[in-house]
Amino acid sequence: MRITRTRSAAAAAVLLMATLVATQGSAQTPSAATPIDTAYQLILANPKVIKTLEDIKADDDTALVEQKRITEIPAPPFKEKVRAEYFLKRMQELGFKDASIDSEGNVIALRKGRGGGRPKLVVSAHLDTVFPEGTDVSVKEKDGVILAPGIGDDSRGLAALLSLIKCINANEVATVGDVMFVGTVGEEELGNLRGVKALFRDHADIDGFISIDGLGITRVVNQATGSHRYEMIFKGPGGHSFQEFGLPSAIHAMGRAIAKISDLQTPSDPKTTFTVGTVSGGTSVNAIAGEARMAVDMRSDSTEELLKLEARLLDLVKQAVAEENARWNSDRMTIEIKMIGDRPAGIVAMDSPIVQATQRAVTTIARAPRVTFAGSSTDSNLAMSQGIPAVTIGGGGEGGNWHSRNEWYKPVDAYFGPQNALLTVLILAGLDGVTKPALTVRQSK
Ligand SMILES: [Zn+2]
Repeated sequence: MRITRTRSAAAAAVLLMATLVATQGSAQTPSAATPIDTAYQLILANPKVIKTLEDIKADDDTALVEQKRITEIPAPPFKEKVRAEYFLKRMQELGFKDASIDSEGNVIALRKGRGGGRPKLVVSAHLDTVFPEGTDVSVKEKDGVILAPGIGDDSRGLAALLSLIKCINANEVATVGDVMFVGTVGEEELGNLRGVKALFRDHADIDGFISIDGLGITRVVNQATGSHRYEMIFKGPGGHSFQEFGLPSAIHAMGRAIAKISDLQTPSDPKTTFTVGTVSGGTSVNAIAGEARMAVDMRSDSTEELLKLEARLLDLVKQAVAEENARWNSDRMTIEIKMIGDRPAGIVAMDSPIVQATQRAVTTIARAPRVTFAGSSTDSNLAMSQGIPAVTIGGGGEGGNWHSRNEWYKPVDAYFGPQNALLTVLILAGLDGVTKPALTVRQSK
């Protein structure tokens, strides 16, 4: 790429990008440039794209104000409505007159491309937080650190999404594929991904999915750690420890079950884990327990391993109940098993266009030699489990103490988040008149 214009900011940006692309090209792809490389260089050289990247940077302070405003609208699990309505209003103000809230509570805006509707790429962030109603969500600042429950997770993602929407619309950047911007509900624990479950149920034509969740952009999630969680309630007759000795005990049955679970063996690759996270039960030291309950968490990067573990564990628990009954020659010990969490597992291959696109964007924006690909549990789980290309990318900035009331955020290079999302979206959806979409149109089943 040659720069012949005067040193305007735009030209400087082109020069920077060109240098970065060249560096990256030699460092990471010593062989011939792939079609994605070629497309990417065209995108980076496009004046509208350069202007949009600059505008996103200029929008940094406004985006931070937006992030704080969103944080101060409570959005407990299943009670995201007020925040959803605000997010809808913002999307409408930024140009999506037809944006709406679907039957599950997701906020959706469709940005039509010039390619007749496909491929269709979703770019999303989640509206819900883990914090219950009544939590003080007011934003506080101390020594340049912003403190508030949910300030990063996922208010940053929502603010990054709005900044991206604002700048891509203002510059009339036209894509080939459609881009669907979504604020989802039900990402956190008890929501069990109900938002994205509804989204994929209602839209069979989604070809790719991006979730903006987490902060630093050099960490990309391309693996979905699946989890199954159960509450198990052991129930027996209960009675006096001396007078009614001879009855089966709910606590003893649960103890047998925990001992068996403790000895389970699981693979380290794919990483597969289990734990009895909480226990409770009994009424008194001198009573045979009539009830005991425990909560069990199982996780794996592979659905197959998760299901194998689950089948074994449930079997052991039933065995434990049978043994407790047999010990006292009884049939009065029973168990109630309730599934309380269900997140599917999945993986997106390193050579898939969505991972490749993200890697190039991150390398350019953050000028980072290294992008870490990791497993996590996010909105992308659902797409990944269905074989739909998906990644979860950072919204920009630094932070910590997730899911705690002491959550903190520092807006260090925060605009990297929406800039990274912009480039990733353009590679995948295609820049009209310049590049073809890297995302493949999926065959409908
Ligand atoms: Zn989150």
